[in-house]
Amino acid sequence: MNINTGLLSFIASSPSAFHTVKTVTDTLTAHGYTELLEADAWELVPGGKYYVTRNLSSVIAFTIPQSQSVNGFMIGAAHTDSPSFKIKEYAESESAGYTRINVERYGGMLCASWFDRPLSAAGKVTVLEDNRVCSRLVDLDRDLFLIPSVAIHMNRKANDGATYNPASDMQPILGSSAVKGNFRKLLAEVVNTSEDAILGSDLFLYPRDHGTVWGIENEFVSAPRLDDLQCAFSLLQGFLAANNDTALPVLFLADNEEVGSTTKQGAASTFLSDVLTRLSDTLGLSASDYRRAIARSFMVSADNAHAVHPNHAELADPQHRPRMNGGIVIKHNAAQRYTTDAVSSAVFTALCRKAEIPVQHYTNRADMAGGSTLGNIANTQVSLNTVDIGLPQLAMHSCYETAGVKDTAYLIDAMKAFFSSSLNEREAGTYELKL
Ligand code: ZN
Repeated sequence: MNINTGLLSFIASSPSAFHTVKTVTDTLTAHGYTELLEADAWELVPGGKYYVTRNLSSVIAFTIPQSQSVNGFMIGAAHTDSPSFKIKEYAESESAGYTRINVERYGGMLCASWFDRPLSAAGKVTVLEDNRVCSRLVDLDRDLFLIPSVAIHMNRKANDGATYNPASDMQPILGSSAVKGNFRKLLAEVVNTSEDAILGSDLFLYPRDHGTVWGIENEFVSAPRLDDLQCAFSLLQGFLAANNDTALPVLFLADNEEVGSTTKQGAASTFLSDVLTRLSDTLGLSASDYRRAIARSFMVSADNAHAVHPNHAELADPQHRPRMNGGIVIKHNAAQRYTTDAVSSAVFTALCRKAEIPVQHYTNRADMAGGSTLGNIANTQVSLNTVDIGLPQLAMHSCYETAGVKDTAYLIDAMKAFFSSSLNEREAGTYELKL
């Protein structure tokens, strides 16, 4: 399949973090991966392929080398969630003859992009069946809501720097006041249960727009949730194409990056260390073998990066100006909000050089604070050499973002090479990368 078609279909089938994990695990299953439950005992066999989910919104996949000797872990990490609006428990309210859906912000979205376009909702509901609480994925999958902007005639300052109050400006319309109560009814219908049986929900709005490839040479791709599904897709493809009989490739896709990662399934959780220590135990590694393996491990933390904006080039550092289709961006920050340092930048650059993949470097303007991402947060639980990278994009956290078509292929190829490689520390500060 064409890479862009594959990316856009991955995004379309992943309207929420839960659906991202479903899309990923369906693909892993089709490639011979077996699901493990955290609550079960594990039996792992040489050459075996496995995945574990937590909260149905984070997933870790790994492949046991045939030789069963584990030099180290080659970990690729990205996030499954995107900024959105979460639907509250009492979901409906009336205003001026309309029924609105009560929402609150999830993450730091560009509010303006959410106005005047059809929206739907997707996520997870929990249903009581006898004495079981069962999780069901839900995608309402229709043009259902809309957040109307205020007409220019009623807000003459609308083009002079608007501010948006999430409680008053960002509440979507569901229908007339006569339909109040019907949302829960619709939810029960879609889940095929009674309204009374629905005991909980994690439902998020998503825009109904389809992704598209555009530009005079079809060089750009725009779609919802490119941050971070472009990286999640590329890591998955590279992971599936890799072959490694020395190190153990690990794919880690984590939820809740957009709200700080400090949840049971986020990058700040014990999920990664739990899975790595358990699989080490199962393979018969001692506690010190495990720590030696961590010292010979490496993480690529992949989360999209800012391309220089043609209308606001002054916002980029004068010397560090990633452009779309210019290659993978290595992110640097002196305060280590990005984990990249001299060693991890060099290891990743050497890998890309060998695979003939272009890289670019990003740092914020010295007078601007940047965003944060997964790498340094995951390192508080599993500490290892880590590089923060991303694909250059515009309009980050708009509900319709833009990136370069070539960069997805660059990251797939880089991650295939990475997941097939291994690393050894030969002396303090000297690392040998085997490709
Ligand atoms: Zn991101």
